Amino acid sequence: MATILVTGGAGYVGSHCCLALKRAGHDVVVYDNLSNGHRQFVKWGQLEEGDIRDRARLDAVFARHKPAAVLHCAALIEVGESVKFPERFYDNNVAGTLTLLEAMRTGGCNAFVFSSTCATYGDPVRLPMDETHPQAPVSPYGWSKLMIERASRDIAAAHGLKFAHLRYFNAAGATPDEGIGERHDPETHAIPLALFTLIGRREGFKIFGGDWETRDGTCLRDYIHTLDLADAHVRAIERLIGGGESLAANLGTGDGVTVKELLASIERVTGRAVPAAPAPRREGDAPALVADNSYARRELGWSPQRNIDAIIADAWKWHAEAEPKLFG
Ligand code: UDP
Repeated sequence: MATILVTGGAGYVGSHCCLALKRAGHDVVVYDNLSNGHRQFVKWGQLEEGDIRDRARLDAVFARHKPAAVLHCAALIEVGESVKFPERFYDNNVAGTLTLLEAMRTGGCNAFVFSSTCATYGDPVRLPMDETHPQAPVSPYGWSKLMIERASRDIAAAHGLKFAHLRYFNAAGATPDEGIGERHDPETHAIPLALFTLIGRREGFKIFGGDWETRDGTCLRDYIHTLDLADAHVRAIERLIGGGESLAANLGTGDGVTVKELLASIERVTGRAVPAAPAPRREGDAPALVADNSYARRELGWSPQRNIDAIIADAWKWHAEAEPKLFG
């Protein structure tokens, strides 16, 4: 049992990690500036409100809690925003993380589990993508995450930091019974937007592109349940604080699902058809992104447990029942 500082612990993936850490017997401290996180999601540890760019605040939190590891989820994540305002992403994500890493070093904490992304690979040159796939991001968001991977790798070599770079594919699902789920403003992700049409929050769903080279012409993605992601984070933390080696690992199911298959799953699970219409391709989309997850399976002893229908069932219960109760 150890104390883990979770930056971005009031967010979507971060709050699931806090839940999983608590269930595994660890103490959790959430560090979050609540710019995109939700106070309602902080339930498994104390909230230390603060910004990752605030060195004095970080120093005080490290001195107070002496965490054995940092799980770093705090970040700006909206790809479109990163194209319009790249400076925000380099300031918050990159400079903020450098400040955090320096606070870890002076605070005597040397285990760093980082919420990275398959966006660090950019457009796929082969599928499924393993960890040796070239990393050539196509957005400032992806670059900001890759720069953090690079910086923490170099800091590890120089100062003995241990890192786990966890590259998520499409985080999805929710844990409605625990009151946590996806809640972004603006929402841009396929699953919530499709489900919103069934509860009157959106009129219709646009299918971005129907002429991709995939089995039905729509984009293929690897949707992974946030609880499966959280399970991998707990394993990575325990590996690092147990003296294990650093690693960079993909977190995906290894199964691709097209947009049309996603809509079919929603119909199977909810019994209702999403009103969907074809639309032009969305700029920046890759046709297909699927993880080769064999490295995470081997190194972390991890295997994802939830398929697309389980993801949709939880997301549906979240958006239709739990979220309105919590947020009105
Ligand atoms: N998508 C769509 N309509 C939407 C939102 C998304 O057809 O309103 C598609 C998008 O083109 C992509 C997939 O759904 O192929 C997943 O998109 P999302 O934004 O959820 O995640 P991304 O893969 O972009 O990170």
